[in-house]
Amino acid sequence: MELPKQGESAASVMEALDRLQAGDVDWKSGKAFSLAYHAGPDVLALATEVNARFLSANALNPAAFPSLRRMQAEVVEMVAGLLHGGRDAAGFMTTGGTESLLLAVKSARNRARRERGVAAPEMVLPTTAHAAFEKAADDFGVKSVRVPVGADFRADPAAMAAAIGPDTVLVVASAPSYPQGVVDPVEGIAAAALARGVSCHVDACMGGMILPLLERLGRPVRAFDFRVPGVTSISVDLHKYGYAAKGASVLLHRNRDLRRDQTFATDKWLGGTYASSGMLGTRSGGPIAAAWAVMRHLGEDGYLRLTKAAAAATDELLAGLRARPGVRVLGEPDATLAAFTIEGVDPFAVGDGLWRRGWVLDQQKPPPSLHCTVNAVHAGVIGEFLVAFDEAADEVRRSGASAAQKAYGAIE
Ligand SMILES: *Cc1c(COP(=O)(O)O)cnc(C)c1O
Repeated sequence: MELPKQGESAASVMEALDRLQAGDVDWKSGKAFSLAYHAGPDVLALATEVNARFLSANALNPAAFPSLRRMQAEVVEMVAGLLHGGRDAAGFMTTGGTESLLLAVKSARNRARRERGVAAPEMVLPTTAHAAFEKAADDFGVKSVRVPVGADFRADPAAMAAAIGPDTVLVVASAPSYPQGVVDPVEGIAAAALARGVSCHVDACMGGMILPLLERLGRPVRAFDFRVPGVTSISVDLHKYGYAAKGASVLLHRNRDLRRDQTFATDKWLGGTYASSGMLGTRSGGPIAAAWAVMRHLGEDGYLRLTKAAAAATDELLAGLRARPGVRVLGEPDATLAAFTIEGVDPFAVGDGLWRRGWVLDQQKPPPSLHCTVNAVHAGVIGEFLVAFDEAADEVRRSGASAAQKAYGAIE
């Protein structure tokens, strides 16, 4: 469209918005097993109000907004506490998991350049590590060395150790991995990195706000946080299981020295000293304030309640899927994410059938599978989902249809 010659009333704009939004996935009813998280109307109302209040506050210069400086520091402290970062851990908020991973890779590259003079940096990561690491490799000129995972979809610490060379700046583990939801053997991977003086990043974008709470609920949780020697940084998305507004993640470093490799400062222009902690310049204060407000509002008791609900929904989903002929869950999911294949039918065609019925699941490969990220909103909808799944699967069984994969992230 062209810029309207004459502006419209706000009411008419809102009506147009209602029509546009009618086609979006109904995540507040638990129809999205990807992309959106929902802790209920009261949490959403608080996040929305606080986000709006700080929308135009600029986190580029916290000196002008001491409120944002304080809230960012407190959010980072709360996350560091959950991950046993102790008094030394230091970090910043970012706008999401991707920015946290970009900065983790950049920090490791800068550290290796500073300490070891590495000029042609490489990083070692399991095939399950998130796509954003490839973006970082592309952005920062770091070669990605992917190491196959085992049959259980967990990283292989011995193979990863063997892939570390003189130019390795970073070794990566996930807690849990996005595609199959399993926690890598972080202890073995971090020990190999430590022995070679290499940084080790744990991608807990998914797990950082759920694994510590599952542990408190008495579930077995593999060691993944700063209690593991050799872990130098951890990323945690607050806009996932923190149930905060979109645009909020944390990148934590084991100490302030390591954090220094993340930041950027220059005075090589006519505008004076310019420094920033992340990839952006101007940055809305909204997501920072909303994350702070939601974390205070929920507290440990709130997160325990939401984690319990998400874990129960995951158990119900896994039991339901495993009871269905031909369905195979990939690996043994450690948290609240799972992927599954369906024998004899094209999983992507089933995924499309679910999509037409309003349910959004990721379609991923290899192997061709469907993927569910289960959160608190799914408590109470699993039965309804399984009915839709049976309908979609039967339909494909009858028609023999196949379909091309739908992408998780798209450009247009
Ligand atoms: C979501 C996710 C990311 C990327 O985060 P965005 O917020 O989508 O940028 C990275 N790693 C893992 C494990 C994730 O789940």
